[in-house]
Amino acid sequence: METKISKEATVVKHTGSQYLVSDLPNWELVTCVLRGKLRLKGSKTTNPIAVGDKVIYDPQEDGSGVITEVLPRKNYIIRKSTNLSRQAHIIASNLDQVFLVVTLDFPETKLEFIDRFLVTCEAYKIPAVILLNKRDLITQEYSAFKEFFYNTYAVSAGYNIIETSGLEGYDLTQLKEMCKGKLSLFSGISGVGKSSLINSLDPALSLKTGDISQYHKQGKHTTTYYQIHPLSSGGFIIDTPGIKGFGLLEMQKEELSHYFPEMLKVLDNCRFAPCTHTHEPGCRVKEAVENGTITEQRYQSYLSMLEQEEKYR
Ligand code: GDP
Ligand code: ZN
Repeated sequence: METKISKEATVVKHTGSQYLVSDLPNWELVTCVLRGKLRLKGSKTTNPIAVGDKVIYDPQEDGSGVITEVLPRKNYIIRKSTNLSRQAHIIASNLDQVFLVVTLDFPETKLEFIDRFLVTCEAYKIPAVILLNKRDLITQEYSAFKEFFYNTYAVSAGYNIIETSGLEGYDLTQLKEMCKGKLSLFSGISGVGKSSLINSLDPALSLKTGDISQYHKQGKHTTTYYQIHPLSSGGFIIDTPGIKGFGLLEMQKEELSHYFPEMLKVLDNCRFAPCTHTHEPGCRVKEAVENGTITEQRYQSYLSMLEQEEKYR
């Protein structure tokens, strides 16, 4: 009798009861199903296996596979739940970076949305890069706002901002370079030009962005299936159509400021520990807000998130 040799691969797509896996960075898809017993585990999430998961599967004679094990996740993000049920849906796991596509206007990406998004990425320990998209629309009249934006997110918070335009095909060289050898997730509010940008990164993907209109047709009560796409220039990406935001991990109130990099830098020197950076004397965070190294904008976002955290307790 032949002995079966188990193989390791990454889940790249999930449709119904089937999972497509590939031994990344190779792109050779194997259709798998879950071994019955495995299905019972992980009942806290609506999907026991997510895109990006590394799994062990037993190859079958017909070329398919049976998944027997899900390996521990390096990280994962969940979708903000739309109802009150505590069930979480894992969007993707084992991400190397997240690209947050934003526009200053047409449409306006609210800064509070950006702050929440970045906090979530910090909490999940996933590096975030801001793509300031539709750069062709950032005319002279936006120069003050643009300067403020850079000062807040690059100078003070330390994030990498890259100006892009799917329309102009800018700056695809840099973006492609950053995607090489990595699994990247693209996110952003609807209308910021995310699909156009992804399509200009790799025109071969344009067929697949049809999935997006499909999503809108389905309405909000159906499950969206996320998938990993290979980029012809190297690396793998996941698009997140229709995402309003990520679900926050449960965290202690005191932890929140750790997810603002510019606060993390100074908070060890606050006189009181823990410090909520609201009313305590000798607070280095408040000092930094006063001298401008932490911007008022980010501090206000912090306060409003802190307040909302309290409300849910
Ligand atoms: P998504 O909802 O984020 O996927 O956005 P789409 O890619 O569907 O683009 C939304 C709208 O913005 C479309 O009308 C695009 O033509 C337009 N758009 C996309 N990229 C750019 C850009 O770089 N500059 C300008 N001016 N418009 C763009
Ligand atoms: Zn403090």
